[in-house]
Amino acid sequence: MTTSPAMARRIAPREPDALAMREVDRLVSRLLGEIKVPFGSLGTRVLAQLADLKQILSTDYMDVPALPQKPLLKELAQVVEKDIKQHIPTYGSLSDLGSPQLLGHLGKLFGPRELELRAEPYRTGAGLSLRGFYCRADLGEKSKFVIFVNTAHHPGAVGATLGHELGHFIYGSLVGEKAAHTAFMEGAFGNHLIEEDELFADSLVALAAYTPELIKKIGGVTHLKAGSADVLFNSLKDAYDLIGPRHGLDLAKSKMAAAWRVRYLTSMAHFFKLRCALYKSAGV
Ligand SMILES: [Zn+2]
Repeated sequence: MTTSPAMARRIAPREPDALAMREVDRLVSRLLGEIKVPFGSLGTRVLAQLADLKQILSTDYMDVPALPQKPLLKELAQVVEKDIKQHIPTYGSLSDLGSPQLLGHLGKLFGPRELELRAEPYRTGAGLSLRGFYCRADLGEKSKFVIFVNTAHHPGAVGATLGHELGHFIYGSLVGEKAAHTAFMEGAFGNHLIEEDELFADSLVALAAYTPELIKKIGGVTHLKAGSADVLFNSLKDAYDLIGPRHGLDLAKSKMAAAWRVRYLTSMAHFFKLRCALYKSAGV
């Protein structure tokens, strides 16, 4: 009996095996060592973040059913190249994604909804766990897509959130708006792996942060197998060495609480692995 590659992909077990989990554990301890989070003193908040990190590291991003199809990814890559990068002052700087010039351009291109950005710090209560959200509103004659970003976060994280919410705006125009009028971006990235629109929104961030040439150079790893923890560690470190200074972020020296450092590390690992999968699956 022959099995087509597509069949094999579908019936492949989603859960990583014991061997892969050992690789993930090895990788996690190396990464925590790198950002100086001591393994011995992990509180419950850090442990919750670690579960998300492990899921991101152990998932084979080429085998995620919610990964958008090739034509859609190619279209998004075109938007990033031709529309986004041309309208931001510094290439690669996610923080520039909020520039009025860019928002005006995208609003016209993907309207009829007008894009509006509200950037404010939310610190009180569970405020920090919220990175941002969008809502669609009809105000009088105008129909708007309002993006809220929590500026209490590190500027690099704010930029990623902004890119993510812009991705929702573009997805709504290219594919169709989902019924929900409000969507929140909170801590866990594992939840994004099961929703196409979330992965599309994250793809915008990944494409804006890394060129295909760079991914080729660093070497893309989308899944872990026995013995590959060190390869993925080195790729992640290369990516971090590039992205960190660009946004003035040093997770090893930062005074940020350990849970937040793990969360930002998870965020970076997610966008990097996703970027590698986009390159492998759509050649973008
Ligand atoms: Zn989202």
